Amino acid sequence: MKKISILVPMYNEQEVLPALYDRLSALMDANKEYEWEVVMVNDGSTDNTAAIALRMHQRDQRFHLIDLSRNCGKETAMMAGFDMVTGDCTVIMDADLQHPPEVIPAMIAKWESGFDDVYGRRITRGKEPWLRKKLSLMYYHLLQRTTRVPILENVGDFRLLDKSCINALRQLRETHRYTKGLYCYIGFKKTDVPFEQGDREAGETKWNFMRLMGLAIEGITSYTTVPLRFATIMGCVVSCLAMLYLLFIIIKTIFVGEPVAGFPTLMVTVLFLGGIILLTLGVIGEYLARIFNETKQRPNYFIRELDGKRFTGKGIDDNK
Ligand code: UDP
Ligand code: MG
Repeated sequence: MKKISILVPMYNEQEVLPALYDRLSALMDANKEYEWEVVMVNDGSTDNTAAIALRMHQRDQRFHLIDLSRNCGKETAMMAGFDMVTGDCTVIMDADLQHPPEVIPAMIAKWESGFDDVYGRRITRGKEPWLRKKLSLMYYHLLQRTTRVPILENVGDFRLLDKSCINALRQLRETHRYTKGLYCYIGFKKTDVPFEQGDREAGETKWNFMRLMGLAIEGITSYTTVPLRFATIMGCVVSCLAMLYLLFIIIKTIFVGEPVAGFPTLMVTVLFLGGIILLTLGVIGEYLARIFNETKQRPNYFIRELDGKRFTGKGIDDNK
């Protein structure tokens, strides 16, 4: 019997867990031809998420709980999940039920027909501030133009991955993670399944503007080095213009003379160049910071408990 894992990263999701339990167990009971496992990764929640999830495990052994030692962020929580799932394929979904579990059988059908990576394509995005939606679309366009690896639009983290994809993702252990980019990077045979993204069932979104900005910068810097190239090109262009201007000044001084003055020109030039230098340094700094963090080669996460017991380094099935 084929085994299907469902991976759910959770951060302060106590309000939605009862609904999540009902929807997932209904799905699993309705599809008994598969063996199921739900891997909930508690990403250092500060509310009762861990306790409630543990009760879910005690009630139904198909539910498992990985309790991380602190809040590591969704990307890292998913990585912890990738390391622990044991299924022949793994479905990743959000805890807030914006990713309807009822779509999963359609994903499985595509997987059974030979696809490795079946991603959900949003046909609606649910309730979301207008500005955020617009910015998000603009961002994907921008990212796409800077890289050769295709980035899919309107595709989130709701997807089914074959074991071979999971194995590939396990090998990508970078600290600065942009998982949406990683799915594209690993390749494999992909197809989509449309779904209606509902509104958050309960609780509130964990992504404020700063966090989203962080993820956006992560996306660009972990995906392309185009900003560095851009800095080089800008440097060349500005140097060439400066050269021309230099020639102009020399020639003008020789033939017409120079009655000093020129303070505004000087000021504008200095400020303009200063701005470009600072901007370029900032871009270099972003990449340098990433090199710095990667060279430390620290593990990305630590597991505190597995299914309510101290984590001993054994997998989900052996941690008895
Ligand atoms: N999440 C997480 N760690 C975090 C932030 C979020 O594991 O630090 C989880 C969260 O519990 C949810 C998923 O990531 O299952 C998506 O988060 P959310 O619904 O808040 O994001 P949105 O849907 O608003 O983009
Ligand atoms: Mg959500």
